[in-house]
Amino acid sequence: MKRNHIFYLLLAATLLISLCCASCGKHSVPPVPDEPAATEPDPTTPTEPDPTTPTEPDPTTPTEPDPGTPEEIPIRWQNGGALRFLPEEPIAVPKLSEMVYTRPDADKLIADIEALTEKVPGCDDAEELLNDYYSIAVQLHNLSSMDALAFFRYSMDMSDGYFADEYDYCEEQYVIVDEKENGLYAAFAGSACRDELEQAYFGEGFFLYYDDFNAGGETYLDLKQQENDLLFQYYELASTADYSSYSQIEENHEASGNIFIELVKVRQMIAEAKGYENYMDYSYACVYERDYTTDQAREYLSMVKAMLAPLMENSKIAGQYSYYSSWSESKSMDMLSAAAERMGGPVWDSFRFMSDYELYDVSYSPNKMGIGYTSYIGNYESPYIFVDPDSKDLLITLFHEFGHFTDWYYNYCIAGDYETGETYSQAMQYLAFAYADPFSDSARAENLRATLSDLLVYSVLQEGAYADFELQAYALAPEELTVENLDAIFGQCLEDYGIAGISDVRFKSNYWSVYQHFFAYPGYVISYSDSAVAAMQICRLEAEEPGAGVDAFCRLLNRTHGKKFAAVLAEVGMDSPFEEATLEKTAAFLKDAFDMD
Ligand SMILES: [Zn+2]
Repeated sequence: MKRNHIFYLLLAATLLISLCCASCGKHSVPPVPDEPAATEPDPTTPTEPDPTTPTEPDPTTPTEPDPGTPEEIPIRWQNGGALRFLPEEPIAVPKLSEMVYTRPDADKLIADIEALTEKVPGCDDAEELLNDYYSIAVQLHNLSSMDALAFFRYSMDMSDGYFADEYDYCEEQYVIVDEKENGLYAAFAGSACRDELEQAYFGEGFFLYYDDFNAGGETYLDLKQQENDLLFQYYELASTADYSSYSQIEENHEASGNIFIELVKVRQMIAEAKGYENYMDYSYACVYERDYTTDQAREYLSMVKAMLAPLMENSKIAGQYSYYSSWSESKSMDMLSAAAERMGGPVWDSFRFMSDYELYDVSYSPNKMGIGYTSYIGNYESPYIFVDPDSKDLLITLFHEFGHFTDWYYNYCIAGDYETGETYSQAMQYLAFAYADPFSDSARAENLRATLSDLLVYSVLQEGAYADFELQAYALAPEELTVENLDAIFGQCLEDYGIAGISDVRFKSNYWSVYQHFFAYPGYVISYSDSAVAAMQICRLEAEEPGAGVDAFCRLLNRTHGKKFAAVLAEVGMDSPFEEATLEKTAAFLKDAFDMD
């Protein structure tokens, strides 16, 4: 048991780091860069609002009380998200600093889930099952809210032992609850009421994923245990190392690399147990449930190599990302406020909600965690932003997080997918600079180019190279899986994407052996790359015709919930990153922005 406890602690530490988004990680001081956002909604939780009820805030009406009236209760309608079965009532939103944490009763939640799971096979009354489920949904919502709140308090003051322990408790319970929840959904998937449950609450196709949940049997569970053990070994090794240091990477290179190799072998067997020939195919389809395949990803990557990587030959485009303007805490909020007001509509609504209820913290404090993230307090249907300003990148991190905030405010933190989520945040980096005041024309132009350079180098190319490496690593025969071969493949990827010369540990041929995503989130990194191409399209529209980028951003806010990345882009009339013409336009736009021939 002790071992499990340590694993949970390590897992908690991972999730904690993983709250940073792709770009936030880059701009803060990450022990491990570029993490997927753990607080982004779990794709396995019900995401669709009932299409027959008007759950979206009307963007044309202000969501706040008139500031001239002594209205005490801020209005935020409850029924946007997972609790939409409750009566539609306004909820009072306190300031973030005044929200109260109380330890959630996880034992009751777990017992309730277990009881319902047992009940499902013998019950053919969908309404009865749903009523039982609703009380569980309220508790799940509360657990996630308290988890987010405990993390906020802990990240505000890392010396606070109480909230460190409470956050740890919530994360530990989450692991158990998650497993129980999956069991419940698998039971629903196998029940006679399946269709009725989907229609009434969960959304069409929700249980498809759970058909597969128990498939694989004992072999699968045994392999998952092996995978966890290997992951544990990786964390154990990483826990005493600083992977921003060349020498410490070199020191663990062989040992950590060999753990990765064993993980690849085990994961290939997991894929086989699930009926797939290759783990990456399995991961893209089943773990991340993408609406594009590894073959489409390979085509995308070869186009990136051919059309975008050559831009790195120009030193301006390769180095511009370090030229962001630096501003103090209060000025940064003023700047964002001015930008949001000029963008108007849902962006301005979202900013005012954030500002009126102080759902952000960008203050200086020596005990703050050195990251930026956006999280969500479901009990108040309120996102919040956390940024450690103790770096020159306060402004760009704030802009990035505000992109997430606007999406989550507008869409009640309803999951689409990571690609769509990062499109909002990365596009907002550019849009906020385009609208913020006060900038001289030349400073504005410089910041806009810095954003483009940043998106190209760190998102499209770096993460593209990493995704390419992963696809190649998982295609190797077992005897070809050696540290030397993987060094060579990773080094070649860095060359192919034009980023081998950058002086940073992440661009060295041994970095694969310590990069957390390759261990903990296999198959993930492609999301950073293709979402940045989508975000750049919004930048391009804005550059070509002021206002057009904001319009595209707002159309994207109105996406149909439950649709995935490629389908969402098609729905809102944006070009697909998987089309050659899109990448051609992107390359032409970048050349133009950097005055290249
Ligand atoms: Zn992000």
